Amino acid sequence: MDFKRTHYIGHLDSSMIGKKVLVGGWIEDIRELGKLTFLTLRDVTGVAQIVLVGNEALEQAKGLNRQSIVRITGTVQQSKARDFPFEIKSEKIDILTLAVHPLPIDPIGRLESNIDNRLNARALDLRNQKTASIFKLRHHMLSSIRKTLTENYFIEVNTPKIIGSASEGGANLFSLKYFEKQAYLAQSPQLYKEQLTIGLERVFEIASYYRAEKSHTVRHLTEFTSVDIEAAFMDYSDVMDILEIVVVNAFDYAEKNCSAEQKTLGIEIKKPTTPFERLTYKKAIEELSHDGIKLEIGDDLQDSHLRTLGERHPGFYFLIDWPMKLKPFYIHEKDDDLTLSRSFDLQYGYLELSSGGTRLHDPKKLKSRLEEQGLDSAQFVDHLRAFDWGMPPHSGWGLGLDRLMSVLTKIDNVREVVLYPRDPERLSP
Ligand code: ATP
Ligand code: MN
Repeated sequence: MDFKRTHYIGHLDSSMIGKKVLVGGWIEDIRELGKLTFLTLRDVTGVAQIVLVGNEALEQAKGLNRQSIVRITGTVQQSKARDFPFEIKSEKIDILTLAVHPLPIDPIGRLESNIDNRLNARALDLRNQKTASIFKLRHHMLSSIRKTLTENYFIEVNTPKIIGSASEGGANLFSLKYFEKQAYLAQSPQLYKEQLTIGLERVFEIASYYRAEKSHTVRHLTEFTSVDIEAAFMDYSDVMDILEIVVVNAFDYAEKNCSAEQKTLGIEIKKPTTPFERLTYKKAIEELSHDGIKLEIGDDLQDSHLRTLGERHPGFYFLIDWPMKLKPFYIHEKDDDLTLSRSFDLQYGYLELSSGGTRLHDPKKLKSRLEEQGLDSAQFVDHLRAFDWGMPPHSGWGLGLDRLMSVLTKIDNVREVVLYPRDPERLSP
């Protein structure tokens, strides 16, 4: 069996009129008009009109249905159709696979399906050009992020996702049986990425992480993708600069290189204006107080508070200098106020996209912070050992890629921008 193609449909153009081509894809539509039958054939790059003439072709076409996979041998010719400058006159149809109807969703999107039905038939949903555009944008965003970080001397690494001890405090971890031992799924690469600054200085990782939280929101999944960096000899303000250019470049790249996807989704991607505002936690508390929300210094910002703050700051902004007591054990305090930390969140309106900060690099301080927070330093022996080998001062952040994608595409629910999302209710497909 032969299933090679000579061209991607999207790579055909009017200069090829008269040329013989072999294309393949799925049938989006079939229309009979007297003696002619027209197929709309799509592959991942685009769509073409196929004209079937002659009894033999029409006979073959009788068994065809929408979403079946075919290969067409034919000649490019001028088209009279309004939507197509050229079309392919079929000489031969190879039916490679027939689709079984009824299909669970209409992938053309003429009949709207709800998100659950679409996720249950996700592979077919990708034939919907809106859905396909989301994942093409995601690809471009990832490649832009890799490019920006590489240009800034970051080295991409892969750290384990199956871990033997509960890092970072241990709340919200999925546990699993690892032969005779107890293991967990990593919540973040925090400890590994810090250790890696010893030898590689600047590292980044793009990977899945796991949180056993029964959150039912449009921004939480139990498995999500994070972009993480850690950099030696950088302060939190330096890594905020890196985060800003990572985000700005990704939007800029998508604005310039993804016009078809923007059109399909009906969105306009714009490079954000810079610099992103750096609002201190204290100032945020003051602003909230003006809005009638009274909080004490040290109180965490709840969802409703962030929504109010987001109305004042609708785009990207940093929330910096959080109280130490709200931050994990590895965060560094500020020099001028020991109750505050060298930390930040990147927000988009109400939505938290990233958290980061300067880390402690002094092993004695780190150990006493662990104890202060009631954590068992015995669980961190491997990590603490690395701090005795000459730990450089370092800073980093973790950026939720799914949340950033939802900002880029202007789609609120992260489930839409994740291929096979996992949430407390959804474990398949
Ligand atoms: P939130 O308060 O929104 O639950 P967090 O502060 O617990 O988030 P971090 O531990 O700071 O999250 O993780 C860094 C980033 O990873 C977050 O800013 C967010 O973008 C992303 N992230 C964290 N948890 C999730 C999740 N459950 N689903 C999707 N993205 C997540
Ligand atoms: Mn956070």
